[in-house]
Amino acid sequence: MNYDLEKLIELEKVDREIARLSDEVSALPKRVSAIEEQLADHKAAVEKARTAIKNNEASRRKLESDIQDSQQKIVKYRSQSSSVKTNAEYKALMQEVEFAEKQISACEDKILDLMISLEVEEKSLKAAESELKTEAISVEREKAEARTRTAEDEKQLEGFEATRKELRAAVSDGSLAHYDRVMRQRRSAIAEARDQKCQACYVMLRPQTWQELKTNGQIITCGSCGRILFYDPAHEPPPPEPPKKKRSRAAAQAETDSEVAQEITPIP
Ligand SMILES: [Zn+2]
Repeated sequence: MNYDLEKLIELEKVDREIARLSDEVSALPKRVSAIEEQLADHKAAVEKARTAIKNNEASRRKLESDIQDSQQKIVKYRSQSSSVKTNAEYKALMQEVEFAEKQISACEDKILDLMISLEVEEKSLKAAESELKTEAISVEREKAEARTRTAEDEKQLEGFEATRKELRAAVSDGSLAHYDRVMRQRRSAIAEARDQKCQACYVMLRPQTWQELKTNGQIITCGSCGRILFYDPAHEPPPPEPPKKKRSRAAAQAETDSEVAQEITPIP
């Protein structure tokens, strides 16, 4: 195989690997932030559960202070009741006491409801915290894996870059310039020619070009897409089967006879 052709085929493989690895490395920050976003929902769930508990506690404190207020009122009304002059005044005070007692009882009911809710809220906080913890561990693991992968990619890239340099130095300037130009335009610069066609653009090659190409002895480019062509004898289609001989009528008749004979062979 032509020396430049051989090196350029290798160079394209290396360039493709470099492109793949570079894409992977540059995609990492996006991937890490996507991984971290998975945590955001769990953090929000924990925050929501904590807020519910805080609100519950605040409501209870308010109700407890309302109860205290009502109790103080009751004490006040009772002390006033000893010094009232009329029955009507006494009755009015007792009504106030009754009202305050009812309020206390209502507050106590609400506190009980809040205590029941608190149990549920504490359970959901615990569940949310535990889910967050599990998720955080898996996110950290995924991030570590992504970082390891990138480090490996970068190491591989270094190796490929070195090989690329060597290969480029080995190829003649003219071939390299053509390779670079087609690579820029078409993102691939090498194509196999099979069945007398460029396998990148599927344009038919002239018979003479095809014959020359089959030796891989020189740099030949596709007249249509400009890619550097090579030939792989392993991909040569198998030679067509030789056409079957036309059978003579006598032979056909003999065959029919033997079939018939088989059919009527008696069972021994
Ligand atoms: Zn082509």
